[in-house]
Amino acid sequence: MRIIRLSRSIVGQAEAEAVSRVIIEDGYLGMGREVQLFEKEIAEFLGVPIEWVICVNSGTAALHLAVEAVTAPGDEVLSQSLTYLATFQAISAAGAIPIACEIFPQNVTINLQDAEKRYTSSTKIVMPVHYASNPGDLDSIYDFARKYGLRVIEDAAHAFGCTYKGRKIGSFGDIVCFSFDGIKNITSGEGGAVVTADQEVAQYVRNARLLGVEKDTEKRYSGQRSWEFDVHNQGYRYHMSNIMAAIGRVQLKRFAGEFAPRRQALARKYREILDKCVGIRFFDTDLNAIVPHIQPIRVLNAKRDALRAFLEERNIGTGIHYKPNHLLSYYGYGRVSLPVTEKLYEELLTLPLHPGISDGDVEYVCESVKEFLHNSYR
Ligand SMILES: *Cc1c(COP(=O)(O)O)cnc(C)c1O
Repeated sequence: MRIIRLSRSIVGQAEAEAVSRVIIEDGYLGMGREVQLFEKEIAEFLGVPIEWVICVNSGTAALHLAVEAVTAPGDEVLSQSLTYLATFQAISAAGAIPIACEIFPQNVTINLQDAEKRYTSSTKIVMPVHYASNPGDLDSIYDFARKYGLRVIEDAAHAFGCTYKGRKIGSFGDIVCFSFDGIKNITSGEGGAVVTADQEVAQYVRNARLLGVEKDTEKRYSGQRSWEFDVHNQGYRYHMSNIMAAIGRVQLKRFAGEFAPRRQALARKYREILDKCVGIRFFDTDLNAIVPHIQPIRVLNAKRDALRAFLEERNIGTGIHYKPNHLLSYYGYGRVSLPVTEKLYEELLTLPLHPGISDGDVEYVCESVKEFLHNSYR
């Protein structure tokens, strides 16, 4: 029986050997040389100095430390409501207040006209989310930030290896956060990275990932520990381990030749087969510029749940990315109304996309979608 999963980690012998090397040859599983090398290789991949890249143990940790580095408690962060819960949790973990904004329904990026209406003297950050790997209109976001004196933190959890106007995400801009969790474009098991040219922010994150112990990173990278030290701020145990970094380094090597073209080809295939179908719609995206992490579509006329059930029946995994955060109790119980977001939420359906599925799998998913649509629009 064919089972097509929505997503999964694509790891194998090479990752297992890398982990085994750390365990057997090195024996130091904490943060050391392997993490330093992963940071160096990410920097090379992005074409930035190594000082710009700080690895942590999740994308959420990356966002949390980034927000904390540039806010005081009570400061406000403009972001889209339609994002993974981690975006909002990272903001509130830092003591800042996430302000839920509308999106453009064509590409699920933050609507700046709407964000502007929510600007107050407490606003300190605009946080665009590169939903489904699409950076949207980043130039306008940076213009907006300049106009109001805001920092920009890009939630680029979906966008590792993507480009904007020919430049890699993370190679320019203010503060960019990546996730390397199990199903992202590359994985280190769990993990994430903050990338920034701002060396004050970089140093803050470097210290805060190790309980705020000053310059502990530098010591660990030369095989030492800090016995005498000082601490100036709250810190966390957010550092990446050598085991995670070993997996991440292999994944980074596989990315350009294997993962990126595969994800792009599968997304192209979905479009080729389903683009003209009545009753569904794709988001605007440029598959030459991005490497799609997920394949969401819009299912029109209140048929999303029925299509989802129809596909489940055929062992095709689907998802809903995402439940808008402003509807959650912790973030206001839907007291703020965001009509575009709420309508889109009812239409969202994510189809399987990961390098472990075949062209035939995508064809099977598409035929199933077509069969459903054919039956529903007779
Ligand atoms: C995955 C993800 C995160 C969090 O990353 P983790 O590594 O899972 O903590 C944040 N934002 C978005 C949009 C994500 O998809």
